[in-house]
Amino acid sequence: MIQMKIADIQCFPLRTDLHRSIGFSQWYYTAKNNCLVKITCEDGTVGWGECYGPNEAIATAIEQHFAPRLLGANPLQNEYVWDVLWRAYLDFNRSGIFMAAISGLDIALWDIKGKALQVPVRILLGGTDEPIPCYATGMYYRDDKPEIEMLKELLEEAAGYVAAGYTFLKVKIGKNPEFDRALVKQFRARFPDTFIAADANHAYNFKEAFAMARLLESLNYSWFEEPLAPDNYDDMAALRASTAVPIASGECEQTRFGFQRLAQTKSLDIFQPDIAYCGGLSEFQKIVALASAAHADVVPHCWGLKVNQAVAASAISMLPQNPGRFERRSIYLEMDQTEHPVRDSIFSEAHEVRDGKLHFNDLPGLGVSVDEAAMDPFILRGDG
Ligand SMILES: [Mg+2]
Repeated sequence: MIQMKIADIQCFPLRTDLHRSIGFSQWYYTAKNNCLVKITCEDGTVGWGECYGPNEAIATAIEQHFAPRLLGANPLQNEYVWDVLWRAYLDFNRSGIFMAAISGLDIALWDIKGKALQVPVRILLGGTDEPIPCYATGMYYRDDKPEIEMLKELLEEAAGYVAAGYTFLKVKIGKNPEFDRALVKQFRARFPDTFIAADANHAYNFKEAFAMARLLESLNYSWFEEPLAPDNYDDMAALRASTAVPIASGECEQTRFGFQRLAQTKSLDIFQPDIAYCGGLSEFQKIVALASAAHADVVPHCWGLKVNQAVAASAISMLPQNPGRFERRSIYLEMDQTEHPVRDSIFSEAHEVRDGKLHFNDLPGLGVSVDEAAMDPFILRGDG
């Protein structure tokens, strides 16, 4: 029996300004915000987790509410610990900030378990060592260009990803229906042999989504992401039934109970839980079971730092085929291509991404290490 004890929990809300703002259907980003959590054990073992969402609010939830309950606990009892945290704040945990906080803590506990047992997390999960193919998320809007010029620039941006070895692109739609139609047509014309998915970030009403689904279907797009408001289960189910283009959603859904609604309403072909938000790796596995029983694929949403990339890649390594067949279908890892000085400078070790694939290292745990001195300038310290 390995005896370990949690001795310290620290949260790091991180921010960096962007040199050029990036837009999608809802707003323009001028900065990137992220939240890392570090759990240190009495024997010096350190685990890193990541939370997706409003970083300072999540940090407060961890520091003021969850950390006091975790100190002294055995980090190897992560399933038990998850349930303790869930029960402790059940009235507030069912969705939102608190569940994002639990997600990061849970990821850190998996990192600790891997390090304690000296195996990678993907081995704990029963996954493979095969490189994980990645899809390039990018093509965000620019507010300094007219639409026609911007579209040309987005096509050139995508050409760079294809030249770098990516065989799968994800574009942003939902700006306005006319521009969206031009964009998806021009991308298909320019990249006839590339997988392409389109992400509306819940910008359409049903009729707009219905028309776009027909167009994406005719252009052989790989999926139509967040066509409708995330709570619009019935219309999502009707849209799914109307088209052969797969319908994907779930990045703003949490827990098995949230995804059960999506399963029960048969509204999705692809579940997209974000492991840093949906409840962590422990809860993600329950969502995978639900998706499997609903005959849906799981493609984790991943739009953060390399902790989230590592845990998403580890999870993908064990995902089941729905359905199975001789020629396996690949599940692609989301690889955000946008400017991100924090993501690109604070990790001293991480899995290598080259030729459009993530290649696992053999380090125990999640396989990432944080250079805390490099992270320091990005930490928000509550002084504005
Ligand atoms: Mg999305």
